[in-house]
Amino acid sequence: RYHQAIKENRHLYNILQELRGNIRVFCRIRPIFKFEAKSCIEYIGNDGSLMVSDPCKSQNTRKIFQFNRIFGPATTQGEIYKETQSLIRSVMDGYNVCIFAYGQTGAGKTYTMCGSSSGSCEELGINHMALNDLFQLSSIREDIKYDIHVQMVEIYNEQVRDLLAEDGANTKLEIMNCSGNGGLSIPNASMRGVQSTADVLNLMKLGEKNRAFSSTAMNHRSSRSHSVLTVHVHGKDISGNTIRSCLHLVDLAGSERVDKSEVTGDQLKEAQHINKSLSCLGDVITALAQKNSHIPYRNSKLTQLLQHSLGGNAKMLMFAHVSPESDSYGETISTLKFAQRASSVELGAPPQNKESSEIRNLKEQIDNLKKALMIKE
Ligand code: ADP
Ligand code: MG
Repeated sequence: RYHQAIKENRHLYNILQELRGNIRVFCRIRPIFKFEAKSCIEYIGNDGSLMVSDPCKSQNTRKIFQFNRIFGPATTQGEIYKETQSLIRSVMDGYNVCIFAYGQTGAGKTYTMCGSSSGSCEELGINHMALNDLFQLSSIREDIKYDIHVQMVEIYNEQVRDLLAEDGANTKLEIMNCSGNGGLSIPNASMRGVQSTADVLNLMKLGEKNRAFSSTAMNHRSSRSHSVLTVHVHGKDISGNTIRSCLHLVDLAGSERVDKSEVTGDQLKEAQHINKSLSCLGDVITALAQKNSHIPYRNSKLTQLLQHSLGGNAKMLMFAHVSPESDSYGETISTLKFAQRASSVELGAPPQNKESSEIRNLKEQIDNLKKALMIKE
């Protein structure tokens, strides 16, 4: 009965998510630093509205954006993860999930995904908390035996590199056109079996080392390439039924526009590749949302790589990161426009604060099941 109740609870969570839409975009504004004099954020509403203006301009530059969720500067990592947790849990039920961190360099992408450890205070990122959850869930499900593997690659100048390779990321990888949920899009990338969060964190350290290895300036490279950590989950129950799914945790390259008159050569090439792949990602999200018959996955390596985890039953969450300082006003507007375009896709889904009776009903059922299970959240 216990396992049956857990199963039903999970099933209802998944229905609830599908009703809300499989594409979600959250906006996160990082705190302003002491040396950043002026903020361009005027107002953050509880209803998901955001007002920005350029404090350095005398004329009125006020613009208003609307999102499902906006996380202001005081939001903690735990609060962010709470909104992400149900997606992570659905990976264990066989859904493919992609979580992206989007935004200009310095806006907080790596902070959200990997956290930070400054001095004595350690802030866990989504990666860490998600892995803890995955391993915990896999250990309590006695009815299913899970095997978990990871791959880690970076996409730099439209080339995919294996960050877990023995020879230090110099292997260039081909993306295969895999079919089916369990197909691998980069079969030649190193695949490492893992038993715990610590195993994955160690591999991520190796990945970061390999990334630095192939670049003279590590900081430069990490902001100019996309890093994709993929957690492959394979579950088997006693009757031999299998579940295959994957969770992609993606720290995107900085979205800042580079002034073409100021850069040439390699930097111009990098900028062009980044612009192209980020706009392709935007095009894919929009095409999915509009339920177009053609989804332009093949226009960039990133969308090709994630093809089977974008669309269909797969769930996607994008964190659009914003720096509040006035110097970033132009980039902030461009990030907010990108996020708005991607989030407008949830047109079919009911807004969070006006839930349909169907959602209310499902929530009640979940609450009752939770009480029965005495699950604390
Ligand atoms: P990005 O990866 O987008 O280039 P980072 O995540 O490296 O940006 O963030 C830039 C700086 O801002 C880092 O020092 C980081 O610790 C800090 N930071 C970012 N977001 C937050 C936040 N929400 N709270 C506190 N500090 C933050
Ligand atoms: Mg970063």
